[in-house]
Amino acid sequence: MDKIIVTREIKNYLYKEHGMDLVGICPASALANEPEGYRPTDILTCCKSVIVYGRRLLNGAVQAQFRRLEDGTQTAESIYSTYGLELVPNWTMALSTFYLADFLENMYGGSTQPMGCGPEQATLPKNTPLPMFAGPNKDGLIMNIAHAAIAAGIAQPSWSNFPVTKEFGPRVQFGCILTNLELVYDEPDNGPALCDPDKCHICSDMCPMDALPPKDSGKKTVWTINGKDYEVAQHKVNACTVAALGMRDEFAGIRKRGDLVEGKDPSDEDIARAMKAYPLDNSNLDHYPKNFCNRCQVYCPIGNRDKIFKETGLSKY
Ligand code: SF4
Ligand code: SF4
Repeated sequence: MDKIIVTREIKNYLYKEHGMDLVGICPASALANEPEGYRPTDILTCCKSVIVYGRRLLNGAVQAQFRRLEDGTQTAESIYSTYGLELVPNWTMALSTFYLADFLENMYGGSTQPMGCGPEQATLPKNTPLPMFAGPNKDGLIMNIAHAAIAAGIAQPSWSNFPVTKEFGPRVQFGCILTNLELVYDEPDNGPALCDPDKCHICSDMCPMDALPPKDSGKKTVWTINGKDYEVAQHKVNACTVAALGMRDEFAGIRKRGDLVEGKDPSDEDIARAMKAYPLDNSNLDHYPKNFCNRCQVYCPIGNRDKIFKETGLSKY
């Protein structure tokens, strides 16, 4: 079948049947610089194409986090957790990914590999520094979906390490699938940078654990995606974990567990010790809820933040 038609049908399916806001496709070779074991062809040896798609976070779910962070309204905590960060976005994305894999194999044959996105990512990352993947087991994502979104042209890198989009900034949930179908590929977005960390340092300023050093500190990491280098902050994952998982009462809202870690620069051993003392939480899909911070995501001005949250008074900052 003509790859132009197949590509169009896949994108239509994701936009119309699954309510995706963004869809892009890159060749597997665009992610050749990923660590060994995490490249698309390490996972699906015949992989030719990587399909990446994103759904924006609900405005109401994001505003719930402002109520919690700005007004101390702790009852809003479960709204952001359920509809903004963990339960519903992860489940719906996992289901969309499964149905897309089924659709591709039924319609066009071949093999598809649906990628993990969601609760199973509750692990401390080896291959991605994103805070939402913090957790006890030091695994991380099977594949770095943020890098795939950048390679597929639906996001750009940002200083905070989030993939950012013109429309919604970093407030997007991404999913991904690998396939051996040859498709029409999108170009990376090499237009004007959405994030300029020389001028904006909101994520560094807002971070309560100093986990995102500002650009002038020189503490950076380089991502190589599709042969191009991008500079992002050298994210202090252990420090972030303390705030993201509420390992000190100052961060934990209504789920206080005591101060399990001291200081702003915990070691691997400090985090491992804290995880042992951290009680399992069976009220969630994830035993270790990680919705306690995300200031870097909800305060990033890229995309529609000012229009939706600042100009309406939903956020004071
Ligand atoms: S703002 Fe919060 S979630 Fe973001 S890096 Fe800092 S501690 Fe982590
Ligand atoms: S808050 Fe500013 S510096 Fe940080 S990622 Fe967003 S635009 Fe870039």
